[in-house]
Amino acid sequence: MTIEKNAKQSGDLCCMGGIYIHIPFCAQACTYCNFHFSTQIQHRGAMVDALVKEIIQSETIFTDFKPSTIYFGGGTPSLLTNEQVTKLMTTLKTVYSFENIQEITFECNPEDATPIKLNHWKSLGINRLSIGLQSLQDLELKEMNRTHSRLTSLVAVENALDAGFTNFNVDFIYGTPWKSHEQWIDELDWAFSKNITHIAAYALTVEPKTVLDYQTRKGVFNPVADVFMGEQFEILQNKMHENSWDAYEISNYCKPGHRALHNGNYWEGLPYLGIGPSAHGYDGISQRWSNIANNAEYMRCLENGNAHTSIEDLSDENRFNEYIMTALRTSEGIKMSKLKPFNDKWWSKSANKRENMIETGLILQQNDRIWLTNNGKLISDYIISELMV
Ligand code: SF4
Repeated sequence: MTIEKNAKQSGDLCCMGGIYIHIPFCAQACTYCNFHFSTQIQHRGAMVDALVKEIIQSETIFTDFKPSTIYFGGGTPSLLTNEQVTKLMTTLKTVYSFENIQEITFECNPEDATPIKLNHWKSLGINRLSIGLQSLQDLELKEMNRTHSRLTSLVAVENALDAGFTNFNVDFIYGTPWKSHEQWIDELDWAFSKNITHIAAYALTVEPKTVLDYQTRKGVFNPVADVFMGEQFEILQNKMHENSWDAYEISNYCKPGHRALHNGNYWEGLPYLGIGPSAHGYDGISQRWSNIANNAEYMRCLENGNAHTSIEDLSDENRFNEYIMTALRTSEGIKMSKLKPFNDKWWSKSANKRENMIETGLILQQNDRIWLTNNGKLISDYIISELMV
């Protein structure tokens, strides 16, 4: 399928935004994960060649695209060899201007954070790491089928600091049956004691078609009670507050001044390119496209023309809902002025519900803004669905 250049993008305007590169391989499947990946890591070389091809093809999508962020996600980008990462970065630098680049993030698993790899990534201009720790409890890591241990995590963070990374995220999962409140507090305290600048903390959820989903249906896994989940969320909020961190999104926390710019680009509605199987692109106005979530099919599609297998024209309703969904998760919340382009009726429709939510302490409203309280954050999905059309 071919993407028609939107009028706004095909002019002479310099176009800012981000590039996401999906590396669709993992050493093994974590029980909770529903991202697109394959464990057939012997195909990495062929996949990198395909990604290079897609980066080159993507040049024609926007005119004068000068990305401000690049994000290598997955899957597990750190499974790539140094030569493969070099190939991707060299291609990106050849095809796109780097004059506006502020942030290049690379996701890595702890076992791959070796001094050789870290130094190599740094030498290529990668200036932000995201380490998938998830936990510092060996039992929990084992139950989730992670490939690393607590010790590997500790070493990975020390290696990253030694390599000179000053901007890095660690991922944690909370609300599992394998982590007590005390252990959760210890994990957060440990993170604050290091020069870690960003924490992405996710509540464990049972996603369809995952091992955890299967285990739940078989009665092998029992999710924690809502009260327990709420207490761990409260611990998270309190710890962030005590340490004066910026709780800028439901799952994202940082030292002041270290917000993830790439996510910010998404939330601002800026254009982005998605490279690799399952990746999405957006023109920043009204069209989104996606690549097939199958490695062999993705490579075949690229051979036959291009990798975009679905293109969606976003309606005003879609854009209204997306704004509600993304904005309400952030600390800035919904700005009423940003709803102006949309049909008044859509927002008015939820007026009574919003009043109720304010009375019951789920949302706050001041001047132009509406945002979630901590109690509201606990049931954010429900609140968001109530405000959407
Ligand atoms: S959580 Fe990360 S490492 Fe685990 S399967 Fe998913 S993408 Fe791979």
